[in-house]
Amino acid sequence: MIYGTGILRSMLVTLKHAFRKPITVQYPEQHRNVSKRARTNLLWFEERCTGCSTCAQACPDGCILIETSPREDGTLNIDRYEIDFRICMYCGLCTEACPYQAIQSGGRYDDAVFNFEDMYRNRDSLSKESRQYLEENDGYYPNGQNQDSIKPLHTSIPTARSKTKPAGQDGPIGPHHLPIRKN
Ligand code: SF4
Ligand code: SF4
Repeated sequence: MIYGTGILRSMLVTLKHAFRKPITVQYPEQHRNVSKRARTNLLWFEERCTGCSTCAQACPDGCILIETSPREDGTLNIDRYEIDFRICMYCGLCTEACPYQAIQSGGRYDDAVFNFEDMYRNRDSLSKESRQYLEENDGYYPNGQNQDSIKPLHTSIPTARSKTKPAGQDGPIGPHHLPIRKN
């Protein structure tokens, strides 16, 4: 039996890795590229949204609150659109259900907050995120389409959900079971 071969082999492994390019990145100064198909944060693009509520119906956790009112031309005005990321499990079912790809995965993954309730995002907060995404990506949506190729869409038939209120609740269907922070 030859003694010391184990030490030699481990030294060779060390030497091999000593001259390799490091695979780590200096986060947060540097960011690793994440696949466009990764289920990162949800982005809601208002200009693509018709207010049909299909996303809210598809969400098993009831994270999405949408409130609409009919316009004179029969289309829907979106009065509220909110996502409760406190209970979102990033399953992506809402993105698959949306007929207009108005809600897509592909947002930031470094959005940790100090206050848990800040994970409840209203329409302004969601729009700010999606505008920033489009600015940083030359007007391209996560699905690869360009902003210039999209015409505003409207649905002409209000869905039952857009008018229904859950039993015992005054508000629209949505994450009513968790408190909204009042400042
Ligand atoms: S990713 Fe899943 S849990 Fe989160 S809002 Fe969409 S459907 Fe709901
Ligand atoms: S399913 Fe899509 S188009 Fe319909 S309300 Fe949700 S995000 Fe908007």
